[in-house]
Amino acid sequence: MSVFDSIEQARQALDRHEISAAELTEHYLRRVQALDSQLGCFLHLDRQGALEQAELIDRSLAANRSAGRLAGIPLALKDILVTADQPTTCGSKVLEGWRASYDATVVERLRASGAVVLGKLNMDEFAMGSSNENSAYFPCKNPWDLRCVPGGSSGGSAAAVAADFCLGTLGTDTGGSIRQPASFCGVTGIKPTYGRVSRFGVIAFASSLDQVGPLARSVEDCAELLAVIAGHDPQDATTIEQPLEDYRQACRQPISGLRIGVPREVFSAGADPAVCDAVERALAELEQAGAILVEVGFPDMSRAVATYYVICTAEASSNLARYDGVRYGQRIGEDDGLLAMYQQTRRLLGAEVQRRILLGTFALSAGYYEAYYAKAQRVRTLIRRDFSDAFAACDVIATPTSPTAAFELGEKIDDPLQMYLADVFTISANLAGLPGISLPCGFSARGLPIGLQLLAKPLGEGELLRCGAAYQRLTDWHRRRPENLESDGVSR
Ligand code: GLN
Repeated sequence: MSVFDSIEQARQALDRHEISAAELTEHYLRRVQALDSQLGCFLHLDRQGALEQAELIDRSLAANRSAGRLAGIPLALKDILVTADQPTTCGSKVLEGWRASYDATVVERLRASGAVVLGKLNMDEFAMGSSNENSAYFPCKNPWDLRCVPGGSSGGSAAAVAADFCLGTLGTDTGGSIRQPASFCGVTGIKPTYGRVSRFGVIAFASSLDQVGPLARSVEDCAELLAVIAGHDPQDATTIEQPLEDYRQACRQPISGLRIGVPREVFSAGADPAVCDAVERALAELEQAGAILVEVGFPDMSRAVATYYVICTAEASSNLARYDGVRYGQRIGEDDGLLAMYQQTRRLLGAEVQRRILLGTFALSAGYYEAYYAKAQRVRTLIRRDFSDAFAACDVIATPTSPTAAFELGEKIDDPLQMYLADVFTISANLAGLPGISLPCGFSARGLPIGLQLLAKPLGEGELLRCGAAYQRLTDWHRRRPENLESDGVSR
């Protein structure tokens, strides 16, 4: 079967009846079944549901009925998005065996546009982590090097795209969980402006930071997915009412005159030399294509990390209070009492989740609220201000996505602080509600992908797509694929 490099290519083949949605779906299902035991991307594969959906689409396509812009396109979802026809675990044993009674808005929108959902993807438990090693089921591995992590928490979403298990995925990003795994796995990922995409049906980690976004091979594919999932949702009062830009059109805009802000001092001090070199080369290429580079400041990153971990743990402690052993998952007998319930929950929640609930409860407790939570909120305002100062001089800001390429499994798991520092370049954008993108821009000496991060003003998705798509027209990093996964008889 022929290889599809993009959603657009597959779209054309489907529309010309060169391939059916069922054949395309079968192709990806076979790849997953043959190769995912090496990687661990899927927590749930819905072979039957996906094929039924594809056949339905084929009937519409055969009748030349409009079946939606993603009709017949195989995708997969981070297991934090609730689905009525498949289980949702959020990477946790607490939710094992639970099934939602409805689809998240983003899932509903994908389905309405004809997408075929192959299954649910691995992640750190409740999206807490930077390596996928906090999954309560099994860690997901990096398709470029199976000894390495795919990043987190949307590790399964990034690895599934890199391994060609589907044409695109959705992830969520609270402090970097779309951009950092995209960077580690050599794929493209977008974290939209806070409020641009509905969180209805997205299991909450830190509600003022969480956003859903697409991961795919290219900027254009991400734009295609974003156009379907974004927009106001009456079910989520935090969504923005403003109409969507034409994201496809944004990808075609030239970048001459685009001002790229470079906080060079900040990132050269904080990132590996190989990462800095790759980012500098990318900037030089963008400059040659007509962009203008300007030096700008960046919010103090150590303050951003501290602020993020106060706010996200505080919000998590409140959001996760519902997993008290009463409402979800494996219930215990009513007569067993509160202590048994408490013990049950403790047994079912992983160490990182417990750590965050404890930290967050502490930060919100009487006497400490002012010292920690209220102070963090004030620093958050300052971070927002730092960004608006920087954006007075530029249209987008460029940094590495992560200070390093992917690290090895086990390397940081016993050192939460080191793990938290994997997000130094990504978390400020969540604190300020800004959109960001990660683009593949090179490889480390060991052959692991490196990511370029671009940030924009609120609702500046168009600028990110414009700059990112121009970069991908100039380079082919996003077309490289890991070779070490193939086995006999399983084509791409
Ligand atoms: N790695 C960060 C954390 O552990 C970010 C996670 C995320 O974006 N979901 O909180």
